[in-house]
Amino acid sequence: MKTGKYLLAIVVMIVAAVGFIVSAVVHVAALCGIALFAEMPWFLHIGIFVVWLPAMLSYNALVDGIGMNNKESWRIAMRGCPQWMRYAYTGLFAYAIVNFLLFMLQSPGKHPAPALVTRGFSGHWLVFYFAAFAICYSYIRVQQHDQRPHCKNGHPASPSAKFCQECGAEIEYNPIR
Ligand SMILES: [Zn+2]
Repeated sequence: MKTGKYLLAIVVMIVAAVGFIVSAVVHVAALCGIALFAEMPWFLHIGIFVVWLPAMLSYNALVDGIGMNNKESWRIAMRGCPQWMRYAYTGLFAYAIVNFLLFMLQSPGKHPAPALVTRGFSGHWLVFYFAAFAICYSYIRVQQHDQRPHCKNGHPASPSAKFCQECGAEIEYNPIR
């Protein structure tokens, strides 16, 4: 079913992809000691909020009723993503933490060089843009292929359920397990 949310997810996915690429260019330049923008490129900061608010809509739809605090909610939300995308996200996340710690250790006093500051922050941008992209991608795939888990008798089930709430049969298909 192609709804407004579906179209929004496509637009947000594209914007997040552009944000990720720009952040990656800025980050690599900063690693080489070049500050691509005279001041901090704040538009990349703002862009994160622009993509995150609608990305959260997709996220909510993907975890539908399981609750965000569920330990598996992230995996459930990412169920439409290929394996490499999930690994890439985990890798970026770890990298951003190391990158930021190195930045904290290296920044001298109150006025570190612009390239260093940009380097410190752009690691986080990479994670946020990638996550927004992956959530929207997952949402689109799930909409296209109707990957909702279901039992042997075809009843739709919650992704966290092991048995059907309607007939008690085992869940036959669950993309996250
Ligand atoms: Zn059933």
